[in-house]
Amino acid sequence: LADRLKGSIQKIRGKGKVNEADVKEMMREVRLALLEADVNFKVVKTFVKRVSERAVGQEVMQSLTPGQQVIKVVKEELTELMGGEQSQIAVAKKPPTVIMMVGLQGAGKTTTAGKLASLLRKKHNRKPLLVAADIYRPAAIKQLETIGMQLNLPVFSMGDQVSPVEIAKEGIAKAKEEHHDYVLIDTAGRLHVDEALMDELKQIKELSSPDEIFLVVDAMTGQDAVNVAQNFDEAIGVTGVVLTKLDGDTRGGAALSIRAVTEKPIKFVGMGEKMDALEAFHPERMASRILGMGDMLSLIEKAQTNVDEEKAKEMEKKLRTASFTLDDFLEQLGQVKQMGPLDELIKMIPGANKMKGIDNIKVDDKQLEHVEAIIKSMTMKEKEQPEIINASRRKRIARGSGRTIQEVNRLLKQFEEMKKMMKQMTNSQQKGKNRGGGF
Ligand code: GDP
Ligand code: MG
Repeated sequence: LADRLKGSIQKIRGKGKVNEADVKEMMREVRLALLEADVNFKVVKTFVKRVSERAVGQEVMQSLTPGQQVIKVVKEELTELMGGEQSQIAVAKKPPTVIMMVGLQGAGKTTTAGKLASLLRKKHNRKPLLVAADIYRPAAIKQLETIGMQLNLPVFSMGDQVSPVEIAKEGIAKAKEEHHDYVLIDTAGRLHVDEALMDELKQIKELSSPDEIFLVVDAMTGQDAVNVAQNFDEAIGVTGVVLTKLDGDTRGGAALSIRAVTEKPIKFVGMGEKMDALEAFHPERMASRILGMGDMLSLIEKAQTNVDEEKAKEMEKKLRTASFTLDDFLEQLGQVKQMGPLDELIKMIPGANKMKGIDNIKVDDKQLEHVEAIIKSMTMKEKEQPEIINASRRKRIARGSGRTIQEVNRLLKQFEEMKKMMKQMTNSQQKGKNRGGGF
């Protein structure tokens, strides 16, 4: 039975190797999905080529269709392209570890600085100090102080009349003094990348030699984010990227492009305005998001684990029609005992005479007793899952019931035929709405 089930599942699903037509069709969709997700055109092109090359000729997994198989490759490659999970933060040999937050205005630097400090304290038991080095944006210092108050974290500030370079320097000195092990420098942004900003950031970098320079990027800016990332990286060199505002409905193609273009790891993602809305970056989740195929992908995931077994069980259940077990079989036999020979009874069922295999079911009254003996020699599990009855079990059952192995075999075969018939019957009854019959 198990083998037959496997066969039918294979028929429904996988069909040999992935061919070029399958891939071509799928890749059209994938290309669109990626472009729609705002992935850089060049990145899409290279990506599609790479996936196509890999996918064509692949064996289709038993539990997948060729289309799903291609998507699986797509997802793997996307995940790969975005790098592994890299939410670790550098640790300075000599504390404090200095982290510089850079990015355009409104990207989420100040918010993320707060989130990160909170995360460092909560998850890593650190003692961070926030440094307010954005003296340009109105109320930027106040904003960080408010966040600090909210989180009960210290904020170092010197007002807006001191240069950011000076503030950073003093902030680090203060951290050493007060034994803070992390310093997060919130820097200024501009609406666009400009030289004055980059110069200032370079100076802060030189003076504070940060262990990490996190580029904060608004995921909703899509394509622009790529240029921004490239500019920042070229000018000051970033060590990691934080992608914010992923709680919006953006598909997050920026993540892929940024990673592909700068080759810098995406470390965290911002998932909301609240201070706990910072998560480690999961490339796999992002891949699903970019493809916008959550359902399809989770389906594939399931298939990759144990869907074969589960599907088989499900199919089997259906085959059993109303979970028909050998125990039920025995019960039926008991009920029909007084009515006459079982094979005759079966033939009275509407449509049963037209069924294949009907002649294999020949049970006379004497045989009924034997059948009963055999079934009663089975364990509960065997009665429910006759397919587990292997040679040695058959031998044991035969011995226990005082029957021959051949008789045990015959009974199991009959039972199987019966189930098959019952299935056909339920089908035809449902289709033709036949009256009567059945067990
Ligand atoms: P900065 O100019 O780079 O310092 O940006 P801010 O930290 O001031 O953030 C700008 C706006 O974006 C604020 O209103 C934040 O609340 C909001 N923001 C930051 N990160 C996220 C995020 O992950 N999700 C959402 N929805 N809003 C965010
Ligand atoms: Mg700010």
